[in-house]
Amino acid sequence: MSGGKSKGNGLKVMIIVMLAVIVALIVIIAKISTDNKPSDPGKVVINTEPGHSVMTALPQDTGDSTDGPETTGNGPSDNVETATQIPATAVVTTPVVTATATPTKQPDTELKLVDYSGIVEHVFTHSLVAFPELAYPTDISDVDKVMNTYFIDCITVSEFKQILQALYDDGYMLVNINYVYEVDSNGVPRLKKSFKFPEGKKPLVFSFDDTCYYSNKMGRGMIDKLVIIDGKIGTYTKHKDGTVVQGFDEEHIPILDRFVEEHPDFSFNGAKGMLCLTGYDGILGYRTQRVSEGDGRTEADRQREIEAVKPIIQLLKDTGWYFASHSYKHGVMENYSTASMEDCATKFRNEVIPLIGETKIYVYPYGSWKRSSDGVTCPGPQRVLNEMGFEYFCSVGANWYAKTRSDLGNIILQDRANIDGTAFVWFQDIFYKHEETGESRFPSMNFREIYDDARNISYDDAVAAYKKWKGIE
Ligand SMILES: [Zn+2]
Repeated sequence: MSGGKSKGNGLKVMIIVMLAVIVALIVIIAKISTDNKPSDPGKVVINTEPGHSVMTALPQDTGDSTDGPETTGNGPSDNVETATQIPATAVVTTPVVTATATPTKQPDTELKLVDYSGIVEHVFTHSLVAFPELAYPTDISDVDKVMNTYFIDCITVSEFKQILQALYDDGYMLVNINYVYEVDSNGVPRLKKSFKFPEGKKPLVFSFDDTCYYSNKMGRGMIDKLVIIDGKIGTYTKHKDGTVVQGFDEEHIPILDRFVEEHPDFSFNGAKGMLCLTGYDGILGYRTQRVSEGDGRTEADRQREIEAVKPIIQLLKDTGWYFASHSYKHGVMENYSTASMEDCATKFRNEVIPLIGETKIYVYPYGSWKRSSDGVTCPGPQRVLNEMGFEYFCSVGANWYAKTRSDLGNIILQDRANIDGTAFVWFQDIFYKHEETGESRFPSMNFREIYDDARNISYDDAVAAYKKWKGIE
């Protein structure tokens, strides 16, 4: 810039131009997110039998392999070939217009605390599809390809933002899971009968599975890893054509951070989400797992990754995020022997706990847990986990459930409602109802409206494809 009458005027012009650019960007982003809504909302009536776990098919996995990764399932999108082309249009670094404020714990100054004794909702999703053109097939004639694990297990950025808004509109407020339970004088964990909570708000635990950014998913629509940008958690992705995307608009963590900045009354005592980690392929996009033969890494490589992830973990903790174990190998617990569970849990303890710190929360991969044979005795693999100090176990189920289970060795078992593609095409009007009153637990969450056309298949066609895929008439 030159030619101004004085330095001061030049600076003013520069500031005005920058502000104009920022406003324009915000308008464009708002427009894009509005345009993503389907144009023809209507109503779908589907009959089903509620009250069961909503997991999709369990891969057969004995959990006996000594090293991860599992061959049949690392959470979402591990075994399906989908669209693989590189992005059609050049990708630029996402706008960092909202990255100026410093992350702070929001004081709940204006909210009056009262005794809360209702249920504590727990929902979960997976990492977001940030680049839909890499995640969803364009040919929708093959139902198996359309119903790939990204479609079933994941949601897009646009969908996630609308879900946050819906939860907020329904009066939910994020709470740390460790706040809602206690251990009684006999050493038995149980949900608190009541606790202090802001008047008029409903507590919500939100967990995010597989926040590991597995190597076998690189280039298929999710981010590569978390990074720190301008003192905040951001994301980093390198596309096949060499384009690097860094920003705050590609993954749930920075998006939720920003949402809480804008809506401080969505977070109780600064709580954000629970990040559920495995260990076999590292965590948060860093390959922190031990070096094994033939994986092409050295111990020095590993130590570099460990040092790189430490400040990210610290910043996450400082900004309200907390961690749960999602096992080490992401196997199916129902198939585990006691010995294989010992191996799995020990590896998690040795490789992941030193990085994230202690956690009492365990999230079963695929929501799979082992039932006792006699309804009384705690199964061996469960006992291994109990003896390692885990107290609160989370499975999957769209109907609310949380209870201390003596047949599982006196632990709390809670179902989490999945918010994902399955929910989108199958749960509207069916699940998520209060058992006693029949009222919707998430009345503002209209999946037909939230559904993102970037999935490449219309909502109605997706419902039909899902029914065909599942063999439902
Ligand atoms: Zn998982």
